[in-house]
Amino acid sequence: MRERFDVVIAGAGPAGAQCARDLAERDYDVLVLETESEDGFPRQSNKSTAGTFMSAMTSFSIPDEVVMNYTDNVVLESPNDHYVRKQTGAVLEFAEFKRWLVAEGRDHGATYRFDARVSAPIMENGEIAGVRYDGDEEVYADIVIDATGPAAPLAKKLDVCDLQRDHQAIGVEYELEGVDVNHDDYADLRDAMMLRLDHDLAPGGYSWIFHTGADTAKVGLCYIQNGSHHKYAKDGMGIDDYLEYWLDSDPRFDGAERIEGQQHRGSAHIQPPKSMSTDRFMAIGDTVPTIDPLWGEGIHKGMKSARAAAATVDAALTPDEPDTSAETLSVYDQLWHSDVAPKHSARLMMTELLYLAPNERYDQLMADLRQTADDTLKQINSGDRRAIAKLAHLSDVPVIAAYARRRLGI
Ligand SMILES: Cc1cc2nc3c(=O)[nH]c(=O)nc-3n(C[C@H](O)[C@H](O)[C@H](O)COP(=O)(O)OP(=O)(O)OC[C@H]3O[C@@H](n4cnc5c(N)ncnc54)[C@H](O)[C@@H]3O)c2cc1C
Repeated sequence: MRERFDVVIAGAGPAGAQCARDLAERDYDVLVLETESEDGFPRQSNKSTAGTFMSAMTSFSIPDEVVMNYTDNVVLESPNDHYVRKQTGAVLEFAEFKRWLVAEGRDHGATYRFDARVSAPIMENGEIAGVRYDGDEEVYADIVIDATGPAAPLAKKLDVCDLQRDHQAIGVEYELEGVDVNHDDYADLRDAMMLRLDHDLAPGGYSWIFHTGADTAKVGLCYIQNGSHHKYAKDGMGIDDYLEYWLDSDPRFDGAERIEGQQHRGSAHIQPPKSMSTDRFMAIGDTVPTIDPLWGEGIHKGMKSARAAAATVDAALTPDEPDTSAETLSVYDQLWHSDVAPKHSARLMMTELLYLAPNERYDQLMADLRQTADDTLKQINSGDRRAIAKLAHLSDVPVIAAYARRRLGI
């Protein structure tokens, strides 16, 4: 006898676990296969700083119990300046958040199987009919969802995604105590999430300090190992060396110590999606990839993609004659482009331009942001190309030319 579910989801990250939660709530028979063991879950996948905003907290009813610290401001730092924007958010305890999502799904009836590494799709008549996991184990479903993040074992084999190495951003962070979050020479970072643009510390990327209460903070950096990184990189230094270099050179960390066992690392792809569904199959979260390219907000985006996929499952399986064809499931692609990650290509352009710009331009950017009206800032943040152009200076021509050359591959 074949084991069969309405939906099988690979991966219990924010995207997969949220999708299971939504589907179980609608009484679908859903199975989640997660590669890690349940004991100590999550370990390798405990990778995120987990800063998020109130829209995510309310849309997905995220409880206070998984919040380390509520924040009031977002601070942008450049080598010699900073810009403060009032925006409330929350820094989550990522591991607790992941376990809470699993518990929520289970409460609604979802089945979880840990120690279950998904390796390949089972194909029938040219369509995915189930998945192979843990070597020889098999399970079948009407619809299969890949939510394994950058691993993407199903989406890659079905040729749905095309995650490229030279678009892969890598990140590492430590949790520290003894951090001077209100140092005289810098912005006040109490109850703030700070992102720093500075090629000396994070060549071709950015670094961050997210206050987690009292004198503790999550401190990390990320970059894409592409042309911009190579231009500004220091010889022989890897990502851990950059983090150590920052900790050694910034006075805010003079009395700081690492909190044992609290180190997080991971990767995500900053690139346009190839596609995200086919017959009986959808990819969600970082598998697509859905993460916001500019500031790496992947949790809320991933959960939104999960919700769009769950709504699409509903539309496909509710009729008396279920229709799981590529055409029906392409509703998910439309929802992704309109609701989950609107203006994704404009945000990708902003990201590339930002990381190509030199350090001096970052100081100028802080001054520009202070002088830009709130409405325009909102338009810029939503990827409005006209509003973005308002931030351009004549001196940006070389950066724009470099961007154009990269686009054209010359
Ligand atoms: C250093 C760092 C800092 C970040 N900071 C933030 C932040 O502050 N705010 C924010 O919003 N986002 C942040 N992100 C991004 C965010 O963490 C991701 O976008 C988000 O976790 C993606 O969720 P996901 O469910 O798509 O994938 P993942 O979180 O990658 O989850 C995938 C799950 O699938 C499992 N899995 C993998 N392979 C298999 C397999 N073959 N079979 C079965 N299971 C498998 C994994 O164990 C994991 O549980 C950060 C990322 C990194 C790396």
